[in-house]
Amino acid sequence: MSLARSSLLGGLDLNVSLDAPLGSLTWFGIGGHADMLVSPRSEEALIHLIQRCHEQDVKVRVFGGGANLLIDDAGVSGVVLRLDDECFRRIRYNAEGEVGAAIVGAGVDLFGFVQDTKRRGLAGFEMMAGIPGTVGGAVRMNAGGAWGEISTALQSVDHLSWDGQHRTFDAATLGFRYRGSDLPSGVILSAKMILQEDDPVTVSNRVKEIFQHKRSSQPMGESSAGCAFRNPDPDGPAEGRSAGALIDQAGLKGHRIGGAVVSDQHGNFVVAESGANASDVHRLMDDIQARVLDRFGVELSREIVFWSREEQ
Ligand SMILES: Cc1cc2nc3c(=O)[nH]c(=O)nc-3n(C[C@H](O)[C@H](O)[C@H](O)COP(=O)(O)OP(=O)(O)OC[C@H]3O[C@@H](n4cnc5c(N)ncnc54)[C@H](O)[C@@H]3O)c2cc1C
Repeated sequence: MSLARSSLLGGLDLNVSLDAPLGSLTWFGIGGHADMLVSPRSEEALIHLIQRCHEQDVKVRVFGGGANLLIDDAGVSGVVLRLDDECFRRIRYNAEGEVGAAIVGAGVDLFGFVQDTKRRGLAGFEMMAGIPGTVGGAVRMNAGGAWGEISTALQSVDHLSWDGQHRTFDAATLGFRYRGSDLPSGVILSAKMILQEDDPVTVSNRVKEIFQHKRSSQPMGESSAGCAFRNPDPDGPAEGRSAGALIDQAGLKGHRIGGAVVSDQHGNFVVAESGANASDVHRLMDDIQARVLDRFGVELSREIVFWSREEQ
């Protein structure tokens, strides 16, 4: 390890992979490597690492489940954090003595948590059925859909700022909105959810209904990052149409550049076929934006997060 890397990573309880494949960990399954992919083995190690990165001006990114990410073919520099150690994947039910409250580590897999709450007869998280990723990524994106967003179940968020300050935010103060919030940039450590006791069969039926609806309307078995674009302001020139409807009405279903193609099933899904690279997805998304603007005067903005060496 170089001197610079050893002053950044040395002596801390970390699992480090240099020049590690990163794109292949995403749901797209495409894109380059991370210069440093780091899994801290304790919260203390994470805090020290964040403080060192801050002091040494090293860019840090947090990788959740890679379900909303496109990694550039040339990969990314700096430190990419993965909160996949057991210490970031704990769930504490009846947290702080409150029935129905759960403190959920940022690295917890959403599918697993939905299944767990279902088995326990805890209602209030069914809206996340079929949404891939981690709790940290879902809080960052305020993920959700027609049945609600994760913020509706959220009471507070445990957070580490880029200079290593630990703080708990009351969710009510964070201005959660469609795919966004005022939560400062930094590392989400855990989230406290408030769920309600219910009949496990009732919860299970709701989960099944939502999951089946997603499976019938979205290409869940193909390589994508979910919806490529945010739905535009309904009061603007989109006149209430969703991004998917605009893309469909522009005749773009099936439109392709290289190995990237607009799904036939859902206009807002860009799918990476075998042999696709990140540049194909990028160019296809640019092309969709240009065509929708030209046809309807609507500027689509991207929901997929793009990481590259240039991006700061
Ligand atoms: C088939 C499919 C269906 C989907 N359906 C939906 C849907 O119905 N609704 C919806 O909202 N989304 C959907 N998505 C998108 C995706 O599931 C969500 O955005 C999800 O919340 C991403 O979580 P993640 O852990 O994979 O985050 P990543 O993709 O890894 O990261 C996304 C962003 O969150 C940040 N992040 C991740 N973890 C943390 C953390 N601990 N602290 C700080 N920042 C963090 C990353 O830095 C990045 O900016 C879908 C995706 C796919 C592939």
